[in-house]
Amino acid sequence: MRVGLGYDSHRLLPGRPLKLGGVEVPSPLGTVGHSDADVVLHAVVDALLGAAGLGDIGEWFPDTDPRWHGADSAVFVSETLRRLAEKGFQVYQTDIIILAETPRLGPYKERIRQRLAELLGLPPDRVNIKAKTSEGMGAIGRSEGIACQALVALVEAP
Ligand code: MG
Repeated sequence: MRVGLGYDSHRLLPGRPLKLGGVEVPSPLGTVGHSDADVVLHAVVDALLGAAGLGDIGEWFPDTDPRWHGADSAVFVSETLRRLAEKGFQVYQTDIIILAETPRLGPYKERIRQRLAELLGLPPDRVNIKAKTSEGMGAIGRSEGIACQALVALVEAP
């Protein structure tokens, strides 16, 4: 078994869409980025790449590449899974922490879990989503941004 750690953060601005783990979450504030700025999928991709010893998301999907402008980050996940499969790895499990003051994510955790399970080809009980605020502290506490940490376990494909 191999494990990988991923982290991502994006700035929040009014009037932008907010996508988390491939799910559109209704919010007055949404993330800004070159792609769809889905912090959860970006953290998951970095965790997958880390576990496989394949570097980071910026090397494979650079934000200077016009192909990824406005891209659905689900494409980054499927492309990454393809590379992992080539190296003989398959995903076993993921555990995720989303750090956000606004909006409150409790009502969306289950939908995010289901969608992520679908994207990763996992049963939902091997995907866990935790949502936390920063208790009003720092940039996340002021709702200036949103962040995500992801841990992923891979196994060698049978
Ligand atoms: Mg990102």
